[in-house]
Amino acid sequence: MALHGTYDPDNIFAKILRGELPCIKVYEDDVALAFMDIFPQSEGHTLVIPKDVTARNFLEMPGDKLGPYMASVQKVAQGVASALEPDGLLVTQFNGAPAGQTVFHLHFHIIPRGEGAQLKPHASGGPRPAEELEPIAEKIRAALA
Ligand code: AMP
Repeated sequence: MALHGTYDPDNIFAKILRGELPCIKVYEDDVALAFMDIFPQSEGHTLVIPKDVTARNFLEMPGDKLGPYMASVQKVAQGVASALEPDGLLVTQFNGAPAGQTVFHLHFHIIPRGEGAQLKPHASGGPRPAEELEPIAEKIRAALA
């Protein structure tokens, strides 16, 4: 999908927000939901999505909602950093398929980086089982509690 287009209310993340699809939740507040990426590029790869918006990407996010959402992104990033103590932390997002976007509801990736460790490819490979992701999620939840 191109950079500009119509928001699809049946995208995966909209379904997760409506509770129609499961997720491994680590954090939720009035403006954002955070959960484990099931195709993690590193251990602890977490996504933070805004609630109550139809923004496909960063450019479409209403300005008045951006600040509170970014505060939630930062809070989750701090929780991941505190829980997993990575050497570095990548906080990023993609706009439009040519930029690498595959799910068209705005989200930020929080990706722990280890010194000298390669990231796995983006949004590929098999989904990781809940048994593998849940213990990592629990550490992040505890750090955010
Ligand atoms: P992007 O390619 O930036 O749009 O990122 C979408 C991300 O969502 C990718 O990193 C995928 O691995 C991830 N993803 C896709 N489906 C799910 C799902 N059902 N639950 C959690 N993460 C998902």
